[in-house]
Amino acid sequence: MKTFFLVLAALCSTFLHAAHEEEHPVVILGGGVAALTSATYLARGGIAPLVISGPQMGGAITQSHRVQNWPSELEISGWELAEKMRMQAEQNGAVICTESVVSVDLSKRPFLITTQGLLNGKEKTRTIKAQSVIIGLGASPNMLGVPGESGAEGYFSRGVYSCAVCDGAFYKDKVVAIVGGGDSALLEAQYLSNLARKVYIIVRKDTFKTVEKERAKQVLSYPNVEVIYETVVHEIRGDGERVTDLLLHNMKTDSHYSLPVDALFLAIGSKPNSTLFRNQLEMDEAGYIRLKKHQETSIQGVYAVGDIADPEFKQAISAAGDGAKAALQAQKFLTAYRSEIAQKTPVEPAGAAVIEITSKEHLTREIQSGVGAIFIDFYADYCGPCRMFGPTYESWAKEFNGRIKFLKVDAQKLPQLFDQYQVRGIPTMVILDAQGNVIRKVTGLQEIAGVHRKLDEVRNLASIDPESFKRI
Ligand SMILES: Cc1cc2nc3c(=O)[nH]c(=O)nc-3n(C[C@H](O)[C@H](O)[C@H](O)COP(=O)(O)OP(=O)(O)OC[C@H]3O[C@@H](n4cnc5c(N)ncnc54)[C@H](O)[C@@H]3O)c2cc1C
Repeated sequence: MKTFFLVLAALCSTFLHAAHEEEHPVVILGGGVAALTSATYLARGGIAPLVISGPQMGGAITQSHRVQNWPSELEISGWELAEKMRMQAEQNGAVICTESVVSVDLSKRPFLITTQGLLNGKEKTRTIKAQSVIIGLGASPNMLGVPGESGAEGYFSRGVYSCAVCDGAFYKDKVVAIVGGGDSALLEAQYLSNLARKVYIIVRKDTFKTVEKERAKQVLSYPNVEVIYETVVHEIRGDGERVTDLLLHNMKTDSHYSLPVDALFLAIGSKPNSTLFRNQLEMDEAGYIRLKKHQETSIQGVYAVGDIADPEFKQAISAAGDGAKAALQAQKFLTAYRSEIAQKTPVEPAGAAVIEITSKEHLTREIQSGVGAIFIDFYADYCGPCRMFGPTYESWAKEFNGRIKFLKVDAQKLPQLFDQYQVRGIPTMVILDAQGNVIRKVTGLQEIAGVHRKLDEVRNLASIDPESFKRI
């Protein structure tokens, strides 16, 4: 395991060293369920994202020994589930770095993200540029801070939990306690009362702090629910394997006593890990990032996913759903962002590089200013063969600089040009003469290989006759 992380860190630091100068289309902050789902969606959409996983690869779900509500899995350990998600993201092309984000600057574009190494060279920080950012840093449950709760000797996730929906099912017909005096404690009690034989709610004050009075009335009327007021948990005790009882302190009588239970559920709130974005993104009073449209935050091109933007549900499946939505939104945003940048960029000299066509008028201008042959690559980001052909096309553009003009048209941005040239499959290359007449149309890598052979034949000619591509 350790070796795996060291290898990962080494790979990532090499990548980031190069990335230092680079601008990434999407940088995903966090390595939990939400972040990894975004990564897979983006990578499969042709945008390889950079994922900064932070200290907990896989996120909060890795703390659960048994996940029983993930669709298609009757039971799976949280670690195994997260590991599968990590592998899926990487196999699709996402690059995952075990670094922590230490600061972000969302005030200008591209956005700036500063990270710090976690495993090798803690002191090292790097700054990465991002056109778009997906934030999935999760939320941390508030803890009691009493003996027996966390640490090597503690029972967290072995009898002490922060989510009844996630772990309540392990305590069917058992005795459980919930600590907390707010709405979330009542919700947990409502859920657990259907499973457990007995549910105690331990409340520090002499009343509940609830906005849902009706729910409070209802829950407190259940025969298997009992409230212990004016009491705090002093210690969580167990036999080394499981929780056996709680040492309680009745503050009114100032007395201590033991309450035998099989599990304790913490319902004392959680804190979203959003301090890095304070004064940059809109948040609610508790620090959850506010969403404008689906996963978009108050800044265009910045998305928040999972627990950091979800004060209510905090489930792996809802985090994954957020991740998928944010990835699709980011893809759409990037298409618009890039065409905005391209509009501002002056027309490049013929053949210097592949020119991305941004409008029908742009294509007309490029054809009119062309000499000799004009190549157009009709492609889409989601098309694997198009991605394979991309670098070759770029290298042709460099080599035949000035003798052939190389253009490309994105199916998602300009479908009307696909209609105009009757392109029915991708990748398709259309070869035009200087008057814009179609000389040849080839579809698929096999047919494009014919163009490659023809280019080999004409490589040394000073000027290239478009007609020579008629028969390939
Ligand atoms: C014990 C336990 C059991 C649970 N069981 C279930 C269950 O059975 N079913 C269910 O649906 N849900 C369950 N949940 C809830 C579920 O795990 C969360 O809702 C879900 O993991 C949220 O995903 P997320 O991606 O939003 O955040 P997280 O999974 O919390 O991921 C946050 C990520 O952010 C990273 N990070 C934090 N700070 C930084 C930083 N500064 N820089 C870079 N990265 C950073 C972390 O390393 C982590 O990778 C459980 C939660 C817990 C704690």
